[in-house]
Amino acid sequence: NRLSAVSSSDIKKLRQPIVTVLGHVDHGKTSLLDKIRGTAVVRKEAGEMTQEVGASVVPRSVIQKVAEPLKNIIPLKLEIPGLLFIDTPGHELFSNLRKRGGSVADISVVVVDVTEGFQKQTFESIQILRDRRVPFLMAANKIDRVPGWQPNPNQPFTVSISRQSKEVQSRLDTLIYKLVMDLAQLGFNAERFDRVRDFTRNVAIVPVSAKTGEGIPELLALLAGLSQRYMENRLKVVEGPAKGVVMEVKEEIGLGHTIDVIVYDGILKKNDILVLAGLNGPIVTRVRGILVPKPLQDIRIVKTDFVSLDEVVAAAGVKISAPGLEEAIAGSPLYVAEDESRIEQLKKVVEEEVSTIKIYNKDV
Ligand code: GDP
Repeated sequence: NRLSAVSSSDIKKLRQPIVTVLGHVDHGKTSLLDKIRGTAVVRKEAGEMTQEVGASVVPRSVIQKVAEPLKNIIPLKLEIPGLLFIDTPGHELFSNLRKRGGSVADISVVVVDVTEGFQKQTFESIQILRDRRVPFLMAANKIDRVPGWQPNPNQPFTVSISRQSKEVQSRLDTLIYKLVMDLAQLGFNAERFDRVRDFTRNVAIVPVSAKTGEGIPELLALLAGLSQRYMENRLKVVEGPAKGVVMEVKEEIGLGHTIDVIVYDGILKKNDILVLAGLNGPIVTRVRGILVPKPLQDIRIVKTDFVSLDEVVAAAGVKISAPGLEEAIAGSPLYVAEDESRIEQLKKVVEEEVSTIKIYNKDV
């Protein structure tokens, strides 16, 4: 199927990093994701898919285009095929993204309203990321609200800041310094990204505006550049059977019960044997359909229609239709059994992992 932007024939060495967005309510998580999705749709090449189920892709070509003016600051030769953003921001869904030994998320963005600074959920978000050992950048959002700011829509931050008055520049620096202090309290060294020397030791703070699009080029370039540089092993494409996590269980007209899944490793194929958790013990079933939204001209149109793929390569967000999914559990791990002999072992793995999930949920 030509629509499968990620068919096994064009497997690259590295898969797309999975990115989540966290932060305090009203600090701009949804707006930032909307802006990023909008950028991806407008700047993509013909035939590139940007929409998946529960996730959006920013293809490599888009990141390269928007980062072009930055090539002196952030030299970017991309080997990853793009970035996969989980569409639902905040910690509720993030807690479903667990896998053995950590999180399905490879890297996160903590959004903070730069005019308000750290709030309760900012601290909570960073705590969760630390517990799960997920590296993060901080997006210092709403820079357009710094008094006196002159907007330069969709420009890199480095371009826009150079066009601001000295007063405005120092007002922003004062606000950013407050973020640096709050991060220091939590034990993180942090700096504005263009002053960071060593990204393995410092949290990079990227000033952005989800409203004007300023700073989005750097945010995308840094997410892509840092994950490719520091997570090469984690991102190596594995050609084995798929591993994933169930994000949602939904009944769809004409399809019955379906599961929305983030595939974080391997290749998922039609007719694969799936093992996942159910309310009354593990479910074993076969993939009937691997579905993604039909490509649309306008992302604001409600996603109603799906197209079916023969296979997908991680990382991907897909809807799976299969018999017997009525009792599937959101947050469940999902494994593909290469053959029948593997089923019993995978059932045990799933049961064991689900029991730790329940314990975790009780603690929260
Ligand atoms: P969320 O709760 O973190 O998802 O926050 P939203 O994305 O819903 O944003 C909360 C409010 O802040 C909305 O009214 C947005 O329009 C506004 N907002 C978000 N980002 C920006 C920004 O960069 N600049 C300005 N001026 N407003 C913003």
